[in-house]
Amino acid sequence: MCIFCQIVEGSIPSEKVYEDDNLLAILDIAQTTKGHTLVLPKKHSNNFLEMDEKEYMNLMNKVQVLSKRIIKNLNAKGCNILINTNKEAGQTVMHSHVHIIPRYDENDSINISFKENKYDLNEILEKINED
Ligand code: AMP
Ligand code: ZN
Repeated sequence: MCIFCQIVEGSIPSEKVYEDDNLLAILDIAQTTKGHTLVLPKKHSNNFLEMDEKEYMNLMNKVQVLSKRIIKNLNAKGCNILINTNKEAGQTVMHSHVHIIPRYDENDSINISFKENKYDLNEILEKINED
């Protein structure tokens, strides 16, 4: 059983931010910034690509509700919403989850940067729209 399934089951302790029949939100042990929270479906799936639409919409709806609450109550200025999908993208726990990372400052201890484009955009568009 994966580590988040064990957290859902209660055999591994967690700091619960929110819980209902389908979802659990917990404080991330890393606390990249103050209030870093993970929102996860109780039912195991390896990543968000595997979730059915209803499950996914319910998860993301709660991510928005909790983001607003976290930002307001921790006096944050914004947040990053992050879904790492597969190990190449930095996923380390293979149970679907969304990171809510509250932001207080541009120099918070998280660094997401976008590099200059080096690709042919038309070629990419054609590929994406292939059947
Ligand atoms: P990811 O890299 O997107 O798979 O994120 C997994 C996250 O789970 C990391 O940010 C870890 O710090 C966090 N994590 C791992 N184990 C636990 C745990 N027992 N309780 C809370 N968070 C955890
Ligand atoms: Zn699991």
